[in-house]
Amino acid sequence: MPQDCIFCKIYHRQVPSTILYDDGQAFVIRDIHPRAPVHLLIIPTRHFTYLTYLTESFEPMVGHLFTVAEEMAKREGLGATGYRIVVNQGSNSGQEVPHLHLHLLGGKRLGPLG
Ligand code: AMP
Ligand code: ZN
Repeated sequence: MPQDCIFCKIYHRQVPSTILYDDGQAFVIRDIHPRAPVHLLIIPTRHFTYLTYLTESFEPMVGHLFTVAEEMAKREGLGATGYRIVVNQGSNSGQEVPHLHLHLLGGKRLGPLG
């Protein structure tokens, strides 16, 4: 685990946070600066940086993130109204944390992409 990764620190209880969901492969927290009424982060428990390094062996992990996102959307009451999933990669996206994660956004009518 990289010493300076905030998501790894949260998962290993080195930084306080409320973990809403944890199945050993992925965990979920609320974004500390929410951009929507519901703004969750779905995060693989094992540190994985960029999609550049995606190989076949990681495909089940990536797919699992989407399964967890859909489950969390249901739990947060977004089933009927819909939601958006965002993955930032690299500087033009404004990515802050180099540990792969899905943003799950909902609870209001979201603005256009980009
Ligand atoms: P990204 O810009 O895609 O890398 O997203 C990183 C997200 O992590 C940002 O939306 C931050 O607000 C969020 N974040 C950073 N630190 C924390 C934290 N300690 N707890 C919850 N969310 C955090
Ligand atoms: Zn990490």
